[in-house]
Amino acid sequence: STQTHVSFNDGRSIPQIGLGVWQTPDDVAVEAVSTALQTGYRHIDTAAVYQNETGVGKGIVASGVARGDIFLTTKVWNEDQGFDETLRAMDASLERLGTGYVDLYLIHWPSAYRGKFIDTWRAMIRLREEGKALSIGVSNFEGDYIEQLIAETGVTPAINQIQLHPRFQQKAMRDKHAKLGVVTESWSPLGQGKLLDDPVIGDIAKRHGKSAAQVIIRWHLDMGLVVIPKSVTPSRIVENFDVFDFALSEADKAAIAGLDAADGRIGSDPVTARF
Ligand code: NAD
Repeated sequence: STQTHVSFNDGRSIPQIGLGVWQTPDDVAVEAVSTALQTGYRHIDTAAVYQNETGVGKGIVASGVARGDIFLTTKVWNEDQGFDETLRAMDASLERLGTGYVDLYLIHWPSAYRGKFIDTWRAMIRLREEGKALSIGVSNFEGDYIEQLIAETGVTPAINQIQLHPRFQQKAMRDKHAKLGVVTESWSPLGQGKLLDDPVIGDIAKRHGKSAAQVIIRWHLDMGLVVIPKSVTPSRIVENFDVFDFALSEADKAAIAGLDAADGRIGSDPVTARF
């Protein structure tokens, strides 16, 4: 297995596959994170609102992998937006994670109705200057919210973590990110598991002797995306990282391109979401 990295606009880079830990209870996160790191993952994606930062921190220690070899992401929750609030939220996250810094700190959602994401971004810039976050980025910044951050501060996010999977391929956002120098990261990359019984994916998987999950993860990698599949089941954590021994054909990619759907989004539109 040769894990690839994607380069940021700030000179750093991110391992292309990470373990997502949304909906993973704190005690379960300890084992999931430790299993992933022992499998070869070097990237973990958590958030303050997931309420498992303590477990993630314990999992890192339990794995025996050096903190410096791990890329750790967490996110500031909507209720903590604002300049001072974000600085405090970062300190609380670091305390729970048991670490002095994160590799990447994200604004979890624009939560635009609060009118605070510019002040929040100014705090992220401060946190990077202080070394508490090595890189800073955003999540769910669809619409023109990234342009607003750049116009107000001159600082372009390293990454935007958005919902992206074969049924919701986000071409317009990907094109914009490429133009602005922002890396695209796929959340719910497996469509929260709902894509795993798709017959088109199943057919491709059968021909490669791989699982549906592996085919979808391979597709994200081939698209140049950062991908953070979630599982708490050890065998699936291993399976989702075993994607370096096959390649999708042009026909496979065309078939998956055909799964994109205008109504493929799961859940709220982040431009208008009121939470
Ligand atoms: P996902 O698309 O990764 O799907 C996870 C589900 O798929 C699992 O719960 C399991 O049921 C199934 N699964 C995983 N691997 C499998 C396998 N090999 N075989 C069979 N089934 C398998 O869903 P997700 O958790 O929504 O997204 C992944 C990560 O993205 C999250 O954990 C979180 O870190 C991040 N995320 C971020 C946001 C955001 O707003 N920034 C929102 C949602 C998710």
